[in-house]
Amino acid sequence: MQLSIWQEEVVWYRNEYVCDECGTEWADEWSCQCNDRCPTCDLETEPQESYEVEPDTDSKLQLAIRHANEERMSRP
Ligand SMILES: [Zn+2]
Repeated sequence: MQLSIWQEEVVWYRNEYVCDECGTEWADEWSCQCNDRCPTCDLETEPQESYEVEPDTDSKLQLAIRHANEERMSRP
């Protein structure tokens, strides 16, 4: 089954952010180490820390698989 091949490339990240502007700290989980917007002042912020974690729900796993598949498709 294809899924077992994809799962080797599936990565899920827990990203932790600290806003430069107002000092708000928050965390989000996503299939990439992407910037997020501060929930308080809407400033775009880079992750201060990112950890690779296992996707712990089916919907996260589906997103991570889709992301891995898109990465694969975008390779030359
Ligand atoms: Zn802020």
